[in-house]
Parts: sequence; C-alpha cells; structure tokens
Amino acid sequence: MQFLIRKRPLPLTKFIGTLFLEPHFNDQRAGWIEVVCGCMFSGKTEELIRRLKRAKIASMNVEVFKPGVDTRYDDKAIVSHDTASLKAVPVEHSSKILSAKPETEVVGIDEAQFFDEGLSDVCQELAGRGKRVIVAGLDMDYRGIPFGPVPNIMAVAEYVTKVHAICVHCGNLATHSYRLAEGDSVVLLGEKEQYEPRCRSCYAKAEKLRLV
Ligand SMILES: [Zn+2]
Repeated sequence: MQFLIRKRPLPLTKFIGTLFLEPHFNDQRAGWIEVVCGCMFSGKTEELIRRLKRAKIASMNVEVFKPGVDTRYDDKAIVSHDTASLKAVPVEHSSKILSAKPETEVVGIDEAQFFDEGLSDVCQELAGRGKRVIVAGLDMDYRGIPFGPVPNIMAVAEYVTKVHAICVHCGNLATHSYRLAEGDSVVLLGEKEQYEPRCRSCYAKAEKLRLV
C-alpha cells in the first residue's frame, strides 16, 4: 500500500523570533524604526536605555531626544524609574529631531506620546537616512485611548515591543495606566502618586465604580 506523503510547511515558529534580536548589518544602508511601548511602570525607558547603551558598546554614534515638556527627573537626561539614565536633548517640536548629526547612527526618542503628530514622519525621514530609530512611549493614555503619535509610529515601525507592568491589584500583567487623581488633563506629570498599573479587568472594574 502506498501512502501519499505531503510535505508539510515548517511551523511558523521557525520564522518568528520570540525575543528581540537587535538586527544590525554593517553593510545595510537602510535604517529602521523600533518602538518600545506599554503602560506606566512597564519599563519602557529602561528598555530604551538598555538598547542605546548596547549600541554605544558597539561603538555606534547615538543621539537621544525627549520632549521639552518632560522634566520630571532631569531636564538633560532620560531617566527610568530605576534611575538608569542617559543624556538627552530636550526639544519643543518633533521637527527639531531632524537636526540629528549626519554621523549619528542610532536615534533614541523617549516619552514619544508627548510629541506632536509630526513625530511619525520624522522617524520615517531618519530611517530613510539610514538611521536606527528607537522610540519609547505610552501606547494609551489613562482613558485607554491610543496616545498622541505613538499608534502611527507603531504602524510604520519594523519592530514593536509591548512591555508590561504588574497589576497592583491582582498580580497579572498590567496594560493600563489607571489615574487615581481627578481631572481631565491627559498630560499629568509627576506620576508615581497619580497613577497605578492595572490589568484590563481591574482597570475596567475601577472605571465602572468611577461612573457610579
Ligand atoms: Zn488586575
């Protein structure tokens, strides 16, 4: 008896890496865009600093930018919650990032959600110039709405990494930034006391109570 042996395609896992591999090809001229996003306390800035420090170890020219409005910890650096830091240039408008030096190979941008909508085009322009662009920012505001230019950059980026915090109520992965303080302003700095990370379910429960 003869069996028909069908060649099965390789499982998808053969092609899809589960870890971020920091692609870097010396002879590759084209740049690319990476996004690191998530809720508050998820370690976005830590991950941005980690990638930028590794690029420096690889002797690459690195420049870092942040919005002028972000002055929580230090006005000339990006600082993570665990106080790792890296020098950064505060800029008032995304277009100023286009003044990155020609020899700069890696451009880091922190707190992307506070920039204007033009940031997406700026990232594309820099990637077009052959630079590796690494963007960190909040994906959603405290209402659960996609935040500023971040969703657009996620759409045009080659690599998107969502990082998570831990829900302070149940210990599951947190994706939402729940705001404890009252008020309608989307940009509310000075965070730690004002927000807490929550999973979808604990966030929804609290929002329901707020509406009662
Ligand atoms: Zn929870």
